[in-house]
Amino acid sequence: MNNQELFIKSKQYVPGGVHSPVRSFKGLHTTPKFIKEGHGAFITDEENKSYIDFCMSFGPLILGHQNQTVKTKVIEALDRGWSFGACEKYSLELAEYLVERLPFIDQVRFMNSGTEAVMTAIRLARGFTGKNKIIKFDGCYHGHMDSMLIKAGSGLAGTSTASSAGVTPVTGQDTLICELGNLDKVEEIIKAHPGEIAALFIEPLPANNGLLPQSQEYLQGLRTLCTENDILLVFDEVISGFRIGFGGMSERTGIDPDIVTYGKIIGGGFPVGAVAGKKEIMEKLAPLGDVYQAGTLSANPVAMVAGLANMQQLTPKFYEDLNETSNNIYELLNKWLKENNFSDYNLVNYDSLFWLVPTQESIINPALIPQNLSNRFDELFKIFLEKGIYLSPNAYEIGFVSSAHAGDTLQELEKRLWN
Ligand code: PLP
Repeated sequence: MNNQELFIKSKQYVPGGVHSPVRSFKGLHTTPKFIKEGHGAFITDEENKSYIDFCMSFGPLILGHQNQTVKTKVIEALDRGWSFGACEKYSLELAEYLVERLPFIDQVRFMNSGTEAVMTAIRLARGFTGKNKIIKFDGCYHGHMDSMLIKAGSGLAGTSTASSAGVTPVTGQDTLICELGNLDKVEEIIKAHPGEIAALFIEPLPANNGLLPQSQEYLQGLRTLCTENDILLVFDEVISGFRIGFGGMSERTGIDPDIVTYGKIIGGGFPVGAVAGKKEIMEKLAPLGDVYQAGTLSANPVAMVAGLANMQQLTPKFYEDLNETSNNIYELLNKWLKENNFSDYNLVNYDSLFWLVPTQESIINPALIPQNLSNRFDELFKIFLEKGIYLSPNAYEIGFVSSAHAGDTLQELEKRLWN
């Protein structure tokens, strides 16, 4: 069956034909590709067309597809069994590896996804502080639990409303929405809710609504506001963790968050999420504390050995090489954009993350994103697809470079771009 036939069949059995909405290529006027395999920087669809992959499973595959070391460890782990629902030393080894290298955390708890990690962080922050409200920024994504599917209300400043059907208005009342990049507004909202706010959640490198890097001063300002008002600062590093160097944005900015959430790279491509933080906060989690959290498949050995085998390859030299590879790729993409019908485009990048946007202005919050973004992307995405280059299939999703994009892949990209 070709991609189109598979999609038609899939829609019969699965809502919208997909298990996560962005995979549906909605608004892109082309059929989603059914990927049958991936090797290094390349994926192949069911029609045997090859693509250079810049989606990389939306970030986890920083080492590319089928990294040999990870694969070997996973196969060895499978030989010993893949779920015990009991104590085992695989997760201990990963926990030790992380805590010993990340000075801003004392303890970590593993779960199965980034969403679970943020959901737990919310409950933990509330349980620890005894307060109910949380702050979230317009333009940051933190997974699909109810209390994060909230957007700014259309009425008074500081009001909130659900951004998904099925989220109750009451849930919305406990999530306060702020504008990214504007410290005064955060202060205003904190002042309007004295003693009520448990935590402020932010992607320290917002990367889910385009790539919207924030200034050091702004992030530092948030830290100060949180400290002054007894609000926990939660860095959601599901994308930026282990991507922007081993210690993510916490390390890059030197800002000490109270809680950090991880996902994606931490599992080496297997389903893992994690909450990490200071001991006094983490020990509020059951069984020691009264904040309940659990998981049948949490910290399953296969994902844990994959995560550790992944982590052990992320040396300072690894990041140096990855950033060099990324810069070479950006040079080629920029050259192609300028020479073709996309000279209005800017390639926004932060280390190995990039975003293609039709404006030269710098963008720090969603309100500044050009209105024509989706239309222009539709055209660009299809041209690239035809050339065998797979971008993340949505104008607001970013691109991911892996270590497998080095060397020959660069020449192949050049060939495909100018073919
Ligand atoms: N937080 C951030 C910053 C994310 O980018 C994502 C997913 O893209 C999540 C949380 C949710 O993670 P998951 O999709 O693993 O549930």
